[in-house]
Amino acid sequence: MNHLLEVNNLEVNFKTYGGEVKAVRDVSFHVNKGEIMAIVGESGSGKSVTVQSIMGLIPMPPGKINNGEALLHGQDLLKLSKKQMQKLKGSKMSMVFQDPMTSLNPTMKVGKQIEESITTHQKLGKAEVKKRAMEMIRLVGIPNPEERYNQYPHEFSGGMRQRIMIAIALACRPELLIADEPTTALDVTIQAQVLDLMKDLKEKMNTSIILITHDLGVVAETAERVAVMYAGVIVESGTVEEIFSNPRHPYTWGLLESIPDVNSETKERLVPIEGSPPDLFSPPKGCPFAPRCKYAMDVCVEAMPPGFESEEGHQAKCWLNDPRTPNVEELIAAGR
Ligand code: SF4
Ligand code: MG
Repeated sequence: MNHLLEVNNLEVNFKTYGGEVKAVRDVSFHVNKGEIMAIVGESGSGKSVTVQSIMGLIPMPPGKINNGEALLHGQDLLKLSKKQMQKLKGSKMSMVFQDPMTSLNPTMKVGKQIEESITTHQKLGKAEVKKRAMEMIRLVGIPNPEERYNQYPHEFSGGMRQRIMIAIALACRPELLIADEPTTALDVTIQAQVLDLMKDLKEKMNTSIILITHDLGVVAETAERVAVMYAGVIVESGTVEEIFSNPRHPYTWGLLESIPDVNSETKERLVPIEGSPPDLFSPPKGCPFAPRCKYAMDVCVEAMPPGFESEEGHQAKCWLNDPRTPNVEELIAAGR
């Protein structure tokens, strides 16, 4: 198998005063070597919690991983001690967040911050470390590395700071980079540049990337495969090509309709999905999308749909895909 990471049946809850929030429910997916796999969903759909669990970043309590495994080269990340996890971070996997300003140290030169990320995990001579840091600045497309090396975060623009964060995350050549909404805070042009940079680095360094986003446009531009999350559940997953050309889940239909059409003259945002996600204190026992779904049938409220596979590697958790459902192709055609 070519899987670098395999997540199976992940379940994460959070204890709050109001009760227990079921943030992630029975989530399974994998990441192949050298690919960009996107997890897309609205805020609160569980995508950040999913990757934070994998990185050992869930505060426990109030968080609790109830079930599941996350195998990196067959090693279960969910079972690692803090110390073991620390060792893996930077060498095997690292993470980039949405807001680079809060993740960078404002009082430290950026060159030093990149060096620190190298020396925490690797024993290299001083000159070698500096050379590597300089290389990383160049690699992420920042002009004048010698000068930039000695500057502080506030001397960089938002897009440049995100490049520095990527340089820090990739300085130790991790096999897996997790990027949680890395471009959300950036304006559209800079966003496109940072995404191009990630694609480029993936090619050059053969890094696998999990890209978290709420934006299907970003997915289309960047990723090879995608998992669509809704209310803590992966409702559909497959190659980007499959999901865009042959979506099989009403929630995905809704998401696709709400992407602004770049080719259209009007540039208007299309139909938003009506209603709001279910309460995760007591999620419905059936399909979580049922309360908003215009195709909902009795079975949808009664039972959680299993993953129905339409093409190899393309799964949708929706009863419409059950061959026993009458007129399924008609319904699906009508949905698009
Ligand atoms: Fe709609 Fe039923 Fe499919 Fe859920 S399982 S998305 S309610 S048709
Ligand atoms: Mg998030």
